[in-house]
Amino acid sequence: MKALILKETRRLAIADIDIEESVGPDDVRIKIHTVGICGSDVHYYQDGRIGPFVVKKPMVLGHEASGTIIEAGRKVTNLKAGDRVCMEPGIPDLKSEATLLGMYNLDPAVRFWATPPIHGCLRETVVHPAMFTFKLPDNVSYGEGALVEPLSVGLQAAKKAAIQAGDVAVVTGCGTIGLVTAMAALASGCSKVIITDVVQPKLDIASHFGMTAVNITKQDLKTVVNGFTDGWGVDVVFEASGNESAVLQAFEPLRPGGRVVFIGMPVKPVPVDIVAAQAKEARMETTFRYAHIYPRALGLMASGKIDVKPLITDRYKFEDSIKAFEYAANPRPTSVKVVIEM
Ligand code: ZN
Repeated sequence: MKALILKETRRLAIADIDIEESVGPDDVRIKIHTVGICGSDVHYYQDGRIGPFVVKKPMVLGHEASGTIIEAGRKVTNLKAGDRVCMEPGIPDLKSEATLLGMYNLDPAVRFWATPPIHGCLRETVVHPAMFTFKLPDNVSYGEGALVEPLSVGLQAAKKAAIQAGDVAVVTGCGTIGLVTAMAALASGCSKVIITDVVQPKLDIASHFGMTAVNITKQDLKTVVNGFTDGWGVDVVFEASGNESAVLQAFEPLRPGGRVVFIGMPVKPVPVDIVAAQAKEARMETTFRYAHIYPRALGLMASGKIDVKPLITDRYKFEDSIKAFEYAANPRPTSVKVVIEM
């Protein structure tokens, strides 16, 4: 089958690849329709690695996908050929300790699409366990289906934050993950979400979603937060940029007893000001992907509580997927999510 293959750092090819995949009793075969390009795909393309994960041999990219079922295993009862679906890209060992504990995203044996050495889904078809394949509601498009993956990262963060109705939150970083985290926080009951960045066009996008956008090159975040909270501080800070100074300042806008959730992944270790956290008895949480969030993400999309459609800013045909990656590596600041359609 045809696939988009990362041959080596900065060298992509659309080529035939032999991936032997038979449909087991609990699997489905899916014809891929839409794949979102993720920051991690771009990292592998540009640097050939993310931390300890190194691309050592040609690998198919892509992990944010939707498609149509073309074959279902004999024990699959909830899905059938013709169903429109999206797929969760990480498959854990179902018998592992982590899975039994309800945190299968942390299973050391998890096989995650386009994390070396596992091939991704930018190819004609994939075989996938039915239990990690989710039917799209009729009013949810393939494009939205592909965005369930990043939205799930935001929803996992909102879950970790244990948001209470009426909470006020700050999200630092207005990229895709910052935006979906802010959307998840609003849908989870936040009365106000203040989102920060240094790039104005990104903040302009956030304003359209009812978020309060703060350009920290022009405005002081602490002052803005004090204005909205009578000097008390926000209930939750979501750090979604991975930027060192944002991590260091994460406790500043926080109220005493508030929660900080670290979602962004700094490229190198970043010190944390423990005393600043202690002085507020801040509760700190981290996230790694998500665990069983897809049904919630789809429910929120179907109900209209979360609309990710405006996040899809650039569409490419599969034949142009190399161009799509070149663009995603150096996008206009008004771009949020680049998707490839098969
Ligand atoms: Zn992703």
